[in-house]
Order: sequence, then structure tokens, then C-alpha cells
Amino acid sequence: MGCDGGTIPKRHELVKGPKKVEKVDKNAELAAKWKYCALSQEKLKRPIVACELGRLYNKDAIIEYLLDKSAERPNTEVVAHIRSLKDVKELNLTDNPAWEGERRNIKGDCYEDMHLAMFICPVVGLEMSGKHKFFFLQTCGCVFSERALREVKTVICHKCGDPFQEEDLVVLNGTKEEVETLQKAMEERRSKAKTAKKSKKSKDTKVSKTQDSAESCKLPQNPSESKSASENGEGSSGSSSDSAPGPSTSGESLKTLKATAGPFTGSKRSIQDMKDKSEAFKSLFTSHSSAKRTKDQTSNWVTHTPYHF
Ligand SMILES: [Zn+2]
Repeated sequence: MGCDGGTIPKRHELVKGPKKVEKVDKNAELAAKWKYCALSQEKLKRPIVACELGRLYNKDAIIEYLLDKSAERPNTEVVAHIRSLKDVKELNLTDNPAWEGERRNIKGDCYEDMHLAMFICPVVGLEMSGKHKFFFLQTCGCVFSERALREVKTVICHKCGDPFQEEDLVVLNGTKEEVETLQKAMEERRSKAKTAKKSKKSKDTKVSKTQDSAESCKLPQNPSESKSASENGEGSSGSSSDSAPGPSTSGESLKTLKATAGPFTGSKRSIQDMKDKSEAFKSLFTSHSSAKRTKDQTSNWVTHTPYHF
């Protein structure tokens, strides 16, 4: 059994022990979920979004993925349920005042505290590091710890005051079971939306039909209206031809007039009377004072072209 050099091997050199199982530090794995984008694996930085399953992403990573879904990149199975930016919600996170981020460790010469979280719960101040359960609201995107939601029973968001319901709460980086229930809820919601869309579509066609008939009723009125406009004088000067009150009226009444007036009456009003339009915009039209000429400026032989009106 001896080797050529006359050495005598010891037992541990010949007998292999049981295989060492490589243990993944569970805490480190958990912490990573709260620090890195689930898609790009880059550090999370604002704007941060969350999906309906409660995973955290950098918004630009999601946009990049949505722009080109066919591109080969790792982790795409994580975002397979995201069809558009509507399927994610931008989070309204609360900064941890103790976290200084990259700034402090810019030289890389000091210890970076891995346990310090970037964000905290705005109500009870718990760190969002994975140790505590956090929820986000699908309505407004605000993020809270479970403790805050449990201690302060409310139906409006603690941070922005938007009303919400129990089903708007999505647990962030939840357990396997929690993700499964979220997935079920998501599928239910989507199938519901699909059927709702279908019924709405058939309704829409009905509505547009009735609108069509209403418009055809209106149409005969139109020629008489335009006639009265031409009767009232030159369309170019505009201000007198309008049934609208003169230039002295305030912008507000003009606006309400604009809102109430139909599509035909609206076009009758001169652009030069619109107070909300800029001078530069008005000068684009022939009715503007800069486009008008005095008698000696216009030559006699020029035919009167209709666009002077
Ligand atoms: Zn909110």
C-alpha cells in the first residue's frame, strides 16, 4: 500500500467520507430577493415594480424584456406572466434613513452592512430585508409591513390615503404557498377580465350604432348653420360672425362654451378669439392681423383668392 517514496498513506487519504452537501445560506438567499431584481439580477433601484405574484423588479429590466421577448436572456420564466406594463405596479417605497447605499462604500474600503435594508415600513419602521412580511397595494403601489396592517386596521392606505380592499394586498416575496394562491387569484382575475371585455365589446357595437343614428339626425341642421355664418359677414374677421359672446368674455365662459358646443358650432368660432391659444399659433392663420393688408399694400390686379377669407 505504500507509495514509491516510502510514505505510508493514512486512512483519511484513502477512504472518502460522506459527500458534503453544499448548503445555500437560506438567509442570504432570502435577503437577495429583497436586494436584487428577480429578472436581471441587478441591484434594485428606483423605479422598482412588483408583479401580481409579489416579485420585485427594476422597471427598466421589465421594459427591456417586454420590448423584445424573443431575446435570449436568463430568468425569463420568472416573468412569463407579465404581458405588459399594466401587469406590474410601480412601488411607492419608503427609504430607510440608515441606509446610505453605494455612497458610503464608494471606495470599497469599508464594510458594507448586508443586513441594512434600503427601504422600511412607513408606519412601524420595520426594515424591508426579508425578515418581516411586507405587502404592497395593487391600487396605489404603497408598501407596508404586515405588522402595520395588523395593528392599524384601515380601509385607506396609510401613506397616500387611497381606499383599498383586502384583495388588493399582495405579499412581497411570499412563501411557495402564498405565491400559489396569488397565482390562482391572478388567473381568476384574468379570466374574469376576458369575459368582461367580451360582453363590453358587444355592448360597444350597440352603442356606436345608436350614436350613428343620432348623428345622422343632426346632420341636416349643419348646412343652415354654416349658411348663417356666411350671412353674418366675412369669415375672416370672425369676431362678429360668432354667436359666442365677444372678446370681452372671460376664458372660463369660453371654455364652458367649448365644452357644450357640438362639433359643428365649435368650428365656427374664429381661432383669433380663442384666449387659450398663443399668439404664435394664431399667426398661423390668415385671419390673423399680421396676414391682413391695407389697401395700398394689395396690388389691384391680383385676383381675390379664397384663402384670404
Ligand atoms: Zn398608497
